[in-house]
Amino acid sequence: MRALIPALGLLLAVSLRAADADFDVVIANGRVIDPESKLDAVRHVGIRGGAIRALSTQPLRGRTMIEAKGAVVSPGFIDLHQHATNPEDAVLKVQDGVTLIAELEVGTADVDAWYAAREGKLPIHFAVSVGHIPCRMLVMGDQPAFLPAANSGAALKVANEAQLAQLRDLIERGLQQGAVAVGFGLQYTPGATHWEAMEMFRVAGRFKASCHVHLRAKGLTGPGNVFSSVQELIAASLITGAPAHICHVQATSNQFTPQVFQLIGEARARGIDISSECYPYTAGMTDIRSAIFDPGWERDGRYTFKDIQWPATGERLTAETFAQYRKIGGLVIFHSNTEDVVRAAVLQPFTLFASDGLRGHPRHAGTSARVLGRYVREQKLLTLSQAIEKLSLLPAQRLEQRVPAMKNKGRIRIGADADLVVFDPEKIIDRATYENAELSSAGIHYVLVAGAIAVKEGVFQDGVKAGRGVRAPRQK
Ligand SMILES: [Zn+2]
Repeated sequence: MRALIPALGLLLAVSLRAADADFDVVIANGRVIDPESKLDAVRHVGIRGGAIRALSTQPLRGRTMIEAKGAVVSPGFIDLHQHATNPEDAVLKVQDGVTLIAELEVGTADVDAWYAAREGKLPIHFAVSVGHIPCRMLVMGDQPAFLPAANSGAALKVANEAQLAQLRDLIERGLQQGAVAVGFGLQYTPGATHWEAMEMFRVAGRFKASCHVHLRAKGLTGPGNVFSSVQELIAASLITGAPAHICHVQATSNQFTPQVFQLIGEARARGIDISSECYPYTAGMTDIRSAIFDPGWERDGRYTFKDIQWPATGERLTAETFAQYRKIGGLVIFHSNTEDVVRAAVLQPFTLFASDGLRGHPRHAGTSARVLGRYVREQKLLTLSQAIEKLSLLPAQRLEQRVPAMKNKGRIRIGADADLVVFDPEKIIDRATYENAELSSAGIHYVLVAGAIAVKEGVFQDGVKAGRGVRAPRQK
């Protein structure tokens, strides 16, 4: 058998006659790892009607049989920080084992329209936050864009009372429409005062919505620094009751990541509901025109122009090319971290994995496989079970207080959604690089979304559009 299909080992799908089958799909003989029950054993998984209906030590009969001997069967990966969410963007995600993408940091100002634009079109599930950034862009009259330019009203203006009321109303309306969280990018909107952020947290607290925040500032010194930024979240969470979540903690905290983890840990020990996420890369990606690169950026974070890379040409920037590209605008790769910082974040138990996925950076296509190949298999920083927990269960739990549908995701148990990944733990690896960010991950053989096979024998199944919008219950 191995000789016949060497690339896939013993993995193959066989179809049975419908009359002989008890299940739509059976994944047979795989090593099932469930981070919630801590099950880690060979089981047969029976799937019917989009959900897991059997977990058995005895063989089961399915209309479609997937032989998974030697492979790991894991809950589908849940990516709580994904910016590129169009159907074509989802292809590389599902090939990396992701079954749910959530745009929670930037989010949207129009929740109903966001879901309507994607319903029935994606191979994987999708969710969104109502975003303070896009709401602020609307209120301040910015041109539509992914992020506000550094000199725009949304970035710089201090809201008056009427604008603050509009912002509160927009956040509330988004939550009433079922947004799963509230997003913030306080470094991109320096005009938003601490009071404004607190007002948005107050609305979130009433809806039990977690606040997913790109911190206000980097660095150690000055009135705005990474520690005052984390303290802002801890205080806002304590005062309002809204859970707080720090986006890409390693990308904002840099060399101070261990101290930021200490702060978060101390707050958690006091009962504050605060968590964080990381992506397993030393470089970030953002818009060169944004407030991130306002004067002083080199001093605060100890960077130089050559730490910035222009993706189209691969060139590292100088003072001159930086000034040129900042006028034009565009996404740049920002080599801002060391491997030691990334390893500290990967190891941190309350830090889940989220890709911050954008086309042009390898994190979009490779985050899950990089964790499982590089940090689990090669470096043995985490066990398989720990990594799977941070890729599936922890993200589900982060949202489930507000979004009951998440209680059936991130788990392998009877009744859970059949969002599943079958991968080879000896072969799984990311292939996307800074030079070619469009290479799909390797070693992921099957991905099921609501029981539908979206990746079969390593190949994306065009035309499978089983993804559904995941929302909080609507109000009004
Ligand atoms: Zn960010």
